[in-house]
Amino acid sequence: MRLILLGPPGAGKGTQAQRLVEKHGIPQLSTGDMLRAAVQAGTEVGKRAKAVMDAGELVSDAIVNAIVAERIDQPDCARGFILDGYPRTLVQADAVESMLAERGIALDTVVELVVDDKALVGRIVKRAEEAKAAGQPVRKDDNPAVFEERLREYYKKTAPLIGYYYAKRTLKSVDGMAGIDAVTAEIEAVLSATAKETVAAK
Ligand code: AMP
Repeated sequence: MRLILLGPPGAGKGTQAQRLVEKHGIPQLSTGDMLRAAVQAGTEVGKRAKAVMDAGELVSDAIVNAIVAERIDQPDCARGFILDGYPRTLVQADAVESMLAERGIALDTVVELVVDDKALVGRIVKRAEEAKAAGQPVRKDDNPAVFEERLREYYKKTAPLIGYYYAKRTLKSVDGMAGIDAVTAEIEAVLSATAKETVAAK
């Protein structure tokens, strides 16, 4: 199974991706996590990405496309993967399509988590507080000022993907404001329906 989780920052993509990893045994490919790891390791990519990430802006398409292209060739991706936070621009969406076509594989579905903007800042602040309480590092971009920029980037560059995937008939929208378990159940329902459609089409 290959799916994309789409939605603004704080929509719960990471939380839901982890649940899908547990249930389906396929990896979560979070470009945010990969970029943070590169920053932490002080690699060339990390050095180039750090300031952009701290400002809440998007890292260049060339950098993230290269990271994902390399990652999907790892053996643990053979049975599928969950793209979390990628693609985030139309250029990236075209890139993922070519990447998959070159490998003779296809996307199963794109799940959009529909959320209310006003609730998102509260979620981000809570995420930062929880990380702090657990003694974990707090993300530099999880604060209200940077969050506003991340949200602006989302609407300018990522939200157009909703129309892109809707036109391709691969978009499934799920109510991201429901409780975590309810969202998981809705996503699972979407995945079973998609699997049935695929079988029926064969
Ligand atoms: P995330 O953990 O998904 O919220 O990503 C954190 C930050 O990493 C974003 O605000 C961007 O600066 C960068 N980033 C993550 N994924 C992408 C992507 N697909 N394209 C561009 N920048 C990204």
